[in-house]
Amino acid sequence: MLTRPPGHAKSQAMPLDAFTNVFAGNPLDRASYQRSQADWVAQRIADPDSLALVLWNGKPMVETKAGGGSQIAYVRASMAEEMSDGGERLLFLGLWKETAVFALDMEGQTDPADGPLQGMGRFEDLRAVALDLTGADAAMAATAKAMFEWRRRHRHCANCGQPSSPMDGGWKRFCPACKTEHFPRTDPVVIMLLHRGDRCLLGRQAVWPKGMYSALAGFLEPGESIEEACAREVFEEAGLRTARVRYHSTQPWPYPSSLMIGLMAEVEDGEATADKTELEEVRWFTREEARELIGATLPGARAPGSMAIAYQLIKAWAEAES
Ligand SMILES: [Zn+2]
Repeated sequence: MLTRPPGHAKSQAMPLDAFTNVFAGNPLDRASYQRSQADWVAQRIADPDSLALVLWNGKPMVETKAGGGSQIAYVRASMAEEMSDGGERLLFLGLWKETAVFALDMEGQTDPADGPLQGMGRFEDLRAVALDLTGADAAMAATAKAMFEWRRRHRHCANCGQPSSPMDGGWKRFCPACKTEHFPRTDPVVIMLLHRGDRCLLGRQAVWPKGMYSALAGFLEPGESIEEACAREVFEEAGLRTARVRYHSTQPWPYPSSLMIGLMAEVEDGEATADKTELEEVRWFTREEARELIGATLPGARAPGSMAIAYQLIKAWAEAES
């Protein structure tokens, strides 16, 4: 009888560090009980050891590391607080050991690196710089970006329309007029690699760069389970029925507030047809072709960059034993 080593039993629960996508792996202790105490947060802001990372229109302030690569460029938390419109644009990100880490949201046309933050760092697009940062830095910047995207879109109460105020270090907004609390949103997206036998199916949107293929994806709707959303999207976009779904990993994606839920979807036999609304083409790839896609050696076709969970799904399937 074929036996598997205990660590590879199919029923084994997934360890927390089994797979960490870019933007996951934020190392901070969010200290969610302490951050609800305004006095505690004020003490952390006043502490000269407390730090703040700065985002300008969603771009983190970074600096070049000795020896290459980039890292987050921090300012003192008290300085960030002074620039935060009375705390409106300040977020308590969490604790790194004993050190409190905040984030400051800067907006507007003028680059703060040419103004109040001159000489302290430079602002870089998060996606462009993410792979140049450590995973921890990229995840902290992504957390701050997602929170600030939410803040900017939710400055008024969704219940009565009056201005709301930040609470809990920025993790909640409160409407003084109707006493409603508002919490940051996360929008789940299912993204799935379709496979049957020794082939996987990828799609491409007309607006994508020439030759790029990726995993099918779509927003999960209210009242759907993850596996139901997967099956619906697969049928809508490719005309195929899903037989089995397996979870791979997830990725926080702060554009503006998604959680990409990565799945492997085994589909039933059938003819794959692009819906022509979201996808202009769907195409089967053999496992060998999928390996070439990942290695960027397949003529005329390419995969998304390694930062994307779609790349990781294709890679996991391509490298699995057939
Ligand atoms: Zn209200």
